[in-house]
Amino acid sequence: MAPEHTDTIGPDLTRGIGIADLPDGNKLVGHCGDAQVLLVRRGVEIFAVDAHCTHYNGPLVDGLVTGDTVRCPWHHACFDLRTGDALRAPAFKPLACWSVEQRDGEIFVVGKRKRAELSSRKDLVEAMPEKIVIVGGGAAGFAAAERLRREQYPGSIVMLSDDEAPPVDRPNLSKDFLSGKAPEDWLPLRRESYYSKNQIDLRLGTQAVRIDPRTREIVLADGGSIPYDRLLLATGAEPVRLTIPGADQSNVHTLRSLADCRAIIERATTARRVVVLGASFIGLEVAAALRYRGIEVHVVAPDKQPLGRILGPQMGDFIRSLHEKKGVVFHLEEIASSISGSDVNLRSGGTLAADFVVAGIGVRPRTTLAETAGLTIDRGVVVNSFLETSGPGIFAAGDIARWPDPYGGENIRVEHWVVAERQGQTAALNMIGRSEKFAAVPFFWSQHYDVRINYVGHADRWDEIVVEGDIAARDCLLRFKSDGRVLAAASIARDIENLMIEVAMEHEMAAC
Ligand SMILES: Cc1cc2nc3c(=O)[nH]c(=O)nc-3n(C[C@H](O)[C@H](O)[C@H](O)COP(=O)(O)OP(=O)(O)OC[C@H]3O[C@@H](n4cnc5c(N)ncnc54)[C@H](O)[C@@H]3O)c2cc1C
Repeated sequence: MAPEHTDTIGPDLTRGIGIADLPDGNKLVGHCGDAQVLLVRRGVEIFAVDAHCTHYNGPLVDGLVTGDTVRCPWHHACFDLRTGDALRAPAFKPLACWSVEQRDGEIFVVGKRKRAELSSRKDLVEAMPEKIVIVGGGAAGFAAAERLRREQYPGSIVMLSDDEAPPVDRPNLSKDFLSGKAPEDWLPLRRESYYSKNQIDLRLGTQAVRIDPRTREIVLADGGSIPYDRLLLATGAEPVRLTIPGADQSNVHTLRSLADCRAIIERATTARRVVVLGASFIGLEVAAALRYRGIEVHVVAPDKQPLGRILGPQMGDFIRSLHEKKGVVFHLEEIASSISGSDVNLRSGGTLAADFVVAGIGVRPRTTLAETAGLTIDRGVVVNSFLETSGPGIFAAGDIARWPDPYGGENIRVEHWVVAERQGQTAALNMIGRSEKFAAVPFFWSQHYDVRINYVGHADRWDEIVVEGDIAARDCLLRFKSDGRVLAAASIARDIENLMIEVAMEHEMAAC
């Protein structure tokens, strides 16, 4: 759960503003009492909705309006301006909508509208499955369950998770929560009561070990079994484990779950030095969070530049210098060969002292369950554009799914929070017979100190990076191109351009 937004800015909209102050196509923020309200004008229509995204309170006035929707500049959530509905993750909760009156050349916001008047729910189809089982209590699993209930799916939903914690805001585990800036009550995606109230049978600490596609049953580690009509596999990924001598020491950590994060925080309360293995997104976010806690951080990684393989050399150099200015010491083109007590021994012969070690050397999709069911696997669970696996009635979403990306024309698998959630939403619709293709442009963000990098699209390889702006000044847009076509873009402080590239990619896909 995100922090409440408290400041009120802009004109008092209950007293009215001149229509001329809101030219066609524009938006502005004002307030009605304590509530911040966004006004958007499209021709003769004027929409009034909450001014902040329900995900992390991003300022929607800095977002992008397309059609009757507004997209958040920070993490690309999208809302319906007519109904306030959260159309796309990472937001789930709707925006409040306000009634607007126009008289004597002025616009007045006259009061909040009731949610019931606004519902845009589509009619349910006839042949509804009775039992849906979701394996995974993470981004994709949660988003699927939430979507099913939002669509008024009347059947049973069982959500299995081998984690002890309910679905949490996993990206926060390497950012504000780890650095100590966010309290733990920000982490749950919903309070516990949400699941019982919505009849989502969330079973924590429950591992699914086998699928029997013939009898349509999930077999649990405790020997029990659960029947399904439709099954969603959303088992995510797990950290690649170190295999060097000493990797099994208790002071060597990985970070995936809330429990992992709590263990690192506990170490951090007494530690003075940490060695982070791997200059991955997670490794570097951990480095930033631990610097915030005043811990000396050394990063050991085989790469020439941190994140250069994904963001290119220019951004890689910037990220390196950003972290170095904050005191992180890099040991690049280097790997750890063993860990012995508090010594991390390097291949080159050196040794780094560390009170603890965090390995951020990548993740691998958790495909074992899918493999036991004989589903088609190709470095992930292969799904079609409806997110159906090769097994009847079995869908997959999130970090495990390899899907046909209509923009790039290849089957891809990514490890992005928003993609996992959106796939969960699409799979939910398809499990109840909607036939909706998953065609969202991939999006992720990463936070390093006060620098947020937004990345849209997908580029495994490119032949050119076109840089606009100034990376060092933290105001830039990088376009990753192949044969002149933009495959992806990364930006700092250029949120609108990033959103516009997302929209352009969507238009290009729709035209195909
Ligand atoms: C620390 C951290 C920071 C991140 N930061 C960002 C970020 O800033 N931006 C971004 O875009 N992405 C980020 N990510 C990646 C993002 O969190 C993942 O892409 C996303 O969580 C994938 O969602 P998922 O539902 O596929 O898997 P998960 O969220 O991992 O959920 C999988 C669930 O399945 C359960 N499970 C697995 N196997 C079984 C089984 N056999 N039986 C029962 N339950 C099972 C697991 O316990 C878990 O609950 C981050 C990841 C981590 C770990």
